[in-house]
Amino acid sequence: MSDPRSVPDVDRAAASRKAIAARRARAALKRDVATRVITPQELLRRAEADPASPAGTMRVTEFLTAIPAIGAGKRDRILAELAISPVKRVGGLGARQRVALKDFLDQRLPEPQARSGLSRLIVLAGPTAVGKGTVADRIRTDHPEIHLSVSATTRAPRPGEIDGVHYRFVDDAEFDRLIAAGELLEHATVHNRYRYGTPRGPIDAALADGRTVLLEIDLQGARQVREAEPSATLVFLLPPSWDELVQRLVGRGTEDEEERARRLRTAKVELASQSEFDYRVVNADVATAARQVVESVQAPARP
Ligand code: 5GP
Repeated sequence: MSDPRSVPDVDRAAASRKAIAARRARAALKRDVATRVITPQELLRRAEADPASPAGTMRVTEFLTAIPAIGAGKRDRILAELAISPVKRVGGLGARQRVALKDFLDQRLPEPQARSGLSRLIVLAGPTAVGKGTVADRIRTDHPEIHLSVSATTRAPRPGEIDGVHYRFVDDAEFDRLIAAGELLEHATVHNRYRYGTPRGPIDAALADGRTVLLEIDLQGARQVREAEPSATLVFLLPPSWDELVQRLVGRGTEDEEERARRLRTAKVELASQSEFDYRVVNADVATAARQVVESVQAPARP
């Protein structure tokens, strides 16, 4: 018979597995903050909603250093200024401390706010492999009334891609001609390789018909559209987490190792630009994300 006062081995093993899982979940969450997949304010909201969650059990010190541009020195000054003990966990902050921390973050790292007076021209952008194409396909199926722009590209078709439906596949000479003739609303070289551009004519025609238009393009293109059409509705598609984005990139299996590394670097830079966008939509479920993208042109601006 074992000593009844000792913790049975199975319980100890289970507890240690639980502790490891919790640590992993916190580490993943820190990656999400570091790569800007979630805002620090979002982590605060999750911690408040559930103090036992990975967000709630994270130490404030870990939380602050996960934020881009906050190192150990800055972290300690912030904690001293806000009178927060470094041993505190985010979910264990007092009400006043929580408000002070949120105010501090809102001042230094304001969350994006929707603008008013946006037009029916939706630009859907987001980091590589986040699923923009899948969400756009879903919108094509669920909302035939929405005009999906067909981009011109110099890359070769992938299996299953149809010329004129997914892209207009053109050679370099034809792409040069489109630019010279002023036929592209925007164009960019994506991932340092192929050129992509949005033909202007079909968009103008669809907008004139009163239709909503969707452009699924990269970040450089989104910026050019904002310049050309400041009222365009810019929607940024986010992955549910950084780890999920990496998984999707690896899982797709269409790129080699070097290309994957390049795309991940690009994704980090792209995530850092989300504050330029009017709306952020998390692509956890394709149908929901598609609906939220479409609703972005109907939604009243947030205060
Ligand atoms: P893919 O080659 O995987 O279809 O697309 C690569 C990237 O090019 C994606 O990020 C996609 O959003 C972007 N892209 C597709 N069409 C356009 C376009 O017309 N303009 C710009 N700037 N980017 C595009």
